[in-house]
Amino acid sequence: MELDRLNSPHFSRREWLAGAGSSLLLAASPPGANARASKPQPAPTEADDKSFDLLIQGGKVIDPSQDLEDLRDVALRDGKIVRLERHIPAGQSRQVLDASGKIVTPGLIDIHTHVFPYVGPYGIEADPYCVRRGVTTALDAGTSGAFTFPALRKFIIPQAATRVRALLHIVSIGMVTGSTPHMGELEDLRYCDPQLAVQAAEENRDLIVGFKIRFSEKYTGPNDLEGLKRARVAADQARLPIMTHIGGSFTPLGQLLALLRKGDVVTHSFNSLRHGIVDPEGMVTPEVHEARQRGVLFDVGHGAGSFSFEVMEKCLHQGFLPDTISSDLYSANTQGPVHDLTTTLSKFLLLGMSLGEIFTRCTVNAARTFNFGAEIGTLKPGAEGDVSVLDLVAGDFTFTDSDGKTRQGRQKLQPVVTVRAGKLFYPAAG
Ligand SMILES: [Zn+2]
Repeated sequence: MELDRLNSPHFSRREWLAGAGSSLLLAASPPGANARASKPQPAPTEADDKSFDLLIQGGKVIDPSQDLEDLRDVALRDGKIVRLERHIPAGQSRQVLDASGKIVTPGLIDIHTHVFPYVGPYGIEADPYCVRRGVTTALDAGTSGAFTFPALRKFIIPQAATRVRALLHIVSIGMVTGSTPHMGELEDLRYCDPQLAVQAAEENRDLIVGFKIRFSEKYTGPNDLEGLKRARVAADQARLPIMTHIGGSFTPLGQLLALLRKGDVVTHSFNSLRHGIVDPEGMVTPEVHEARQRGVLFDVGHGAGSFSFEVMEKCLHQGFLPDTISSDLYSANTQGPVHDLTTTLSKFLLLGMSLGEIFTRCTVNAARTFNFGAEIGTLKPGAEGDVSVLDLVAGDFTFTDSDGKTRQGRQKLQPVVTVRAGKLFYPAAG
């Protein structure tokens, strides 16, 4: 698995800024000019052959899987993409969505969320925050473990319009507790049984796409390295990747990274906590570069405590870009600083990444990182009918990171309408 990385270590500041400029080519619309114009209209009636169920017309398609940034029409039938062309006549479709002035991308993929509500303190309902806000596929990152996954499978995933897949926590109880004064999930290793995790993964291969473990002393006590060794056993046996949460670990990061292999994912990569990816001088450490060289992937996982503008800027200046951009949406951050994935993406616009670079990281790269069991992250004909229509709104916006630090941005990505398997979802009112 080789990702289409734009993060060469030799990425210069000049190239960086050139990339930023390209995002300005897209005409930005004024705040508020959005959803109503894009309600689907019945197609003109004189046409003979209604071959398509839905036609998304006139939008600027950004599809990094095909290196495409241009005006295109997208036609869907039976929940799949069937045509992607410069002009498809409106008369050929039962419904037509006018996307002129808007951005049209493959349905966004958020590889770090917590969408297992009612069990423990983290979970939120997926649809209001995902499919109604541009995200067609959400990965629940370890909210469930072997003992609680059956409830996620039976009561949550089938009811969600969002495609939900899961990383199984290596700890059998998953994330049912918080931290101090309660017991963190890895503080008692009796809950960390790799055989239970393997069995659950084997029995649920359609939904479990990897394992999750959290390295923060408040969740692990001194057990992080032993927990990771057990996760390694499970991952090798089940042949699945591990996603590791970092930030404030008991064990120095280098020792933990040494156990990760190609295809494993580090999330919360750009936090400002102890044992992060940069040294006290702000330089990305040699162990982190080595891990990337051997194919370990570095994800954002913004969250309430895990994304620092300052750390991110230092990494960008050194050409160390994230492989994937995810939100880590959970109950404590939906009202800020995260809000949703498109807000997280907007922060990368103000940091200088282009729209193409940003969407690469939440479409094609995210799809390649895990086996979602469906062709997603692309608008190629034959792929799932998952499409995000977004507005790039111009204005003065204040964005806040997980440390409470702010930056001003002049552009903001806002969801207009999301298509999931051919069905339309609008942002919830209010
Ligand atoms: Zn998380």
